Amino acid sequence: MSTAEPPRNQANVDPAEIEKFSQLAHKWWDLDSEFKPLHEINPLRLAYIAEHAELNGQTVLDVGCGGGILTEAMARTGAIATGIDMAKKSLKVAQLHALEANVSVQYRCVSVEDLASESPATFDVVTCMEMMEHVPDPASVIGACAQLAKPGGWVFFSTINRNPKAYVQAVLGAEYLLGLLPRGTHDYKKFVTPAELARMCRQSSLEPVNYCGLTYNPL
Ligand code: SAH
Repeated sequence: MSTAEPPRNQANVDPAEIEKFSQLAHKWWDLDSEFKPLHEINPLRLAYIAEHAELNGQTVLDVGCGGGILTEAMARTGAIATGIDMAKKSLKVAQLHALEANVSVQYRCVSVEDLASESPATFDVVTCMEMMEHVPDPASVIGACAQLAKPGGWVFFSTINRNPKAYVQAVLGAEYLLGLLPRGTHDYKKFVTPAELARMCRQSSLEPVNYCGLTYNPL
């Protein structure tokens, strides 16, 4: 490897994104913070996952887990849960929260691509929620998630659609009008349409099974 080349696990990481989440890390479990929307949609996400896949006793990987909002919820239903993220501060908060809540979750700072090389075909369920719109190469994340799932396993993605409604709600509304999120939290160009998501899934040999839309009304 040439010295100019970034270390492998840094390749698909935007340092500005990681810094952004690190700055907010102490607020992950503050229900009145920037993370309120994630807490509010979490029961819906969990129900959607549990509708399709068995969680109890199954190995589950949560990619881009942040403070562990979904990871912990899945562990509470009996899943053997692992959460990975590239923001160390968020992982510390997640670890502490799980400890205080007496929930067993393993948290690791490793890129999804590196974990896929290390432990392919390991997890019954892989979740990657509200994360791919923060990485330089979402197709690489999808490919790694596909590799990490056992044959016949489930992979769940959620992200923000790149359409005018999402721009008005997630960027103009949430960041500029209501001030729910810090300005610059979302970059419209990085949003992913359902067709793009389906194409990237098929390219990674994932068979799309179901799509579901969700609209968040902050009022
Ligand atoms: N999935 C969590 C957090 C979503 S916020 C939830 O829905 O509750 C987006 C998360 O993606 C942040 O925690 C951020 O640190 C993480 N992230 C951004 N780029 C990443 C990367 N390249 N690898 C792993 N995690 C990343």
